[in-house]
Amino acid sequence: MAEKRDYYEVLGVEKNASDNDIKHAYRTLAKKYHPDMNPGDAEAEKKFKEVNEAYEVLSDPDKRAKYDQYGHAGFDQSFGGGGYQYSGGGFDFDLGNIFGDFFGGGSGFSRSGGTRQTAGKSVYQRIYLSFEEAAFGCKKEISYPRIEKCPDCSGTGAAKGTSPVTCSKCGGRGTVTTSQRTMFGMMQQQSVCPDCGGRGQTVPNPCPNCKGKGFIRINKKIEINVPAGIDDEQQLTVRGQGNVSTNGGPTGDLIIEVSVKPHNVFTRDGFDIYCDIPITFVEAALGAEIDVPSLEGNVKYTIPEGTQTGTSFKLAGKGIKYVNSTRKGDLIFTVIVETPKGLNDKQKQLLREFGLSCGKSNFKSKQKFFDKIFKDKK
Ligand SMILES: [Zn+2]
Ligand SMILES: [Zn+2]
Repeated sequence: MAEKRDYYEVLGVEKNASDNDIKHAYRTLAKKYHPDMNPGDAEAEKKFKEVNEAYEVLSDPDKRAKYDQYGHAGFDQSFGGGGYQYSGGGFDFDLGNIFGDFFGGGSGFSRSGGTRQTAGKSVYQRIYLSFEEAAFGCKKEISYPRIEKCPDCSGTGAAKGTSPVTCSKCGGRGTVTTSQRTMFGMMQQQSVCPDCGGRGQTVPNPCPNCKGKGFIRINKKIEINVPAGIDDEQQLTVRGQGNVSTNGGPTGDLIIEVSVKPHNVFTRDGFDIYCDIPITFVEAALGAEIDVPSLEGNVKYTIPEGTQTGTSFKLAGKGIKYVNSTRKGDLIFTVIVETPKGLNDKQKQLLREFGLSCGKSNFKSKQKFFDKIFKDKK
């Protein structure tokens, strides 16, 4: 493993930085490197973890003092595991709490019996849809990692036949008060109990399945309904399918980030779809009934005689259904007139005769163009 960077250096703050400076630096960096802002960027994910690790230590007065004295040697923490969630180091550090205010993910916490309750973290999962799946909606089975109550101990963390006991360090309050001498006198500071992680209870005989944590990481499979009309880079929130709270708060949400693959023919803008359709110059000149592809099969459309290349036509209501509405967007197609190639002698002769038969009124644009040039010269 690469050598660890200094925590102060990671956050870009001085050794004597105030708690507020540290918090501010952390928020700025965490937001910058958050995996949701940098999907698929391994370097950003590494930085994000590094920043979180530094903050976890420097934001805690006890840990910070220990770090100042012993450096990294004072800690034996392991970070890593799937995605950007923590494994190791316990579950007591809940990112949702810090991120809630700027990511909208479960920050609600309340006090009950002196133990702080935090909402479970939201879990982010990306799904990939075809153009049609997004347009018409679909069912998708997805599998994603999330934290659940350990089924063996029902979340208590205690081995079968035993139960947790009141924490002797904090007397069950979940918090400890430390005193620090400062230039203003003795300052008292309340922090989460290091022995029980704020739960108020400790487990003398840990459950072997969850190693006493009461919670395990599982791969959850669920089927979701993707509504018709959803678009690339939109999100679907499935309430209550995120991580469970590790201290009695509400369960987080599953937030599904949608990627829609491009279509071979159509492009999409909102609920309207667009395509180019090649037509022959004969069809363009004489007018013709042509086949227009739509998401629900071919549609007949009559283009008028004398249609120019690049002309767009609209088929109202042949686009994509608005999400949760019966309204539909339009299909807009643009005709591209194809000039024939590889003509045989007979065809060339016919075209020459045709050309000779044409007058100025048959090619008005060309006439206007040259009229303009001559006007400029005068
Ligand atoms: Zn267990
Ligand atoms: Zn305690």
